[in-house]
Amino acid sequence: MAPVLEARDLTKTYRAGDGEVRALQGISLSVHLGEFLALMGPSGSGKTTLLQLLGGLDRPTSGEVILDGVAISSLDDDAATRLRREKTGFVFQAFNLVPLLSARENVALPFLLAGRDPRTGETAARVDEALELVDLRAKADRRPGELAFGEQQRVAIARAIAGRPAILFADEPTGNLDYATGMEILQYLYRSCAERGQTVVPVIHDAQAGAYADRVRFLRDGHVREEIELGRRTEHPARPLIERLALLGSLVGVTGAAVVLVFGGTSGMRSALEVPWGAVLLAFALGVGGSLLAAAYPARLASRVEIARALRFE
Ligand code: ADP
Ligand code: MG
Repeated sequence: MAPVLEARDLTKTYRAGDGEVRALQGISLSVHLGEFLALMGPSGSGKTTLLQLLGGLDRPTSGEVILDGVAISSLDDDAATRLRREKTGFVFQAFNLVPLLSARENVALPFLLAGRDPRTGETAARVDEALELVDLRAKADRRPGELAFGEQQRVAIARAIAGRPAILFADEPTGNLDYATGMEILQYLYRSCAERGQTVVPVIHDAQAGAYADRVRFLRDGHVREEIELGRRTEHPARPLIERLALLGSLVGVTGAAVVLVFGGTSGMRSALEVPWGAVLLAFALGVGGSLLAAAYPARLASRVEIARALRFE
């Protein structure tokens, strides 16, 4: 399959006073259609710079970016801007919503700017569809200030994907959010990937990435330090087994609790039916074990061994 995005030997040098900062020192990568590629790395390692070059927001000092088959460097600024508008969506750490517009109007804004009426036909359907994907249809008429931070970021995601871009970029979309809300945001990014085949390239600042990404790239000092292939989340070989065990665990847990309640509570019934205490205790132990397994299941996803290993370098 042809990559939807390719970067070849990108470098970027910023001038800073009399000196210069070599923010990227030769980075190559390719991203395939429908892939979820997470970028990670310490502050100052070049993640934002890389995302800006990949999304055509800035030009490299040397090297080449090919977005959906088009070499950005071959375009003049106007054409590059058009390509960026058509092919990319961006989500930022600070949400960047327009405070006076409702959620729906914020999502519709890119269509308005492109001269399309967002209230009718195909365009209206896309706005609704994007709001649906982030579960905000019911709150579409609220302004950003009337929404929780996580919901505001979900509006930003809807705005970025409504135009069905070839690639959705996100620069630390969880950076302003608490851990649980950050996880939710990653789930919505993942959902756009799983349900719509959206290609997603986010910068993520901790091990949360491991729960959803197909691949993780680590940057350090403008170089790629390491790349980790995680495989499709849904195709993880252990996943169906763990899922069944977790389900079994919950069922055993419920049954165990019922057994303990009925027989433990009324010893008369227990002895009448000749159920030994050992069996009651065993059911209880299985129940507790099963519930623990069910509760630990999401955590297992987030704590893949490879991520833990790689994070030691942070
Ligand atoms: P990250 O997003 O990983 O924190 P950045 O891409 O923002 O890293 O920055 C990489 C390096 O480039 C840093 O040393 C940063 O100070 C420098 N840098 C980024 N943007 C500019 C700029 N506009 N001018 C000068 N230096 C910059
Ligand atoms: Mg950054």
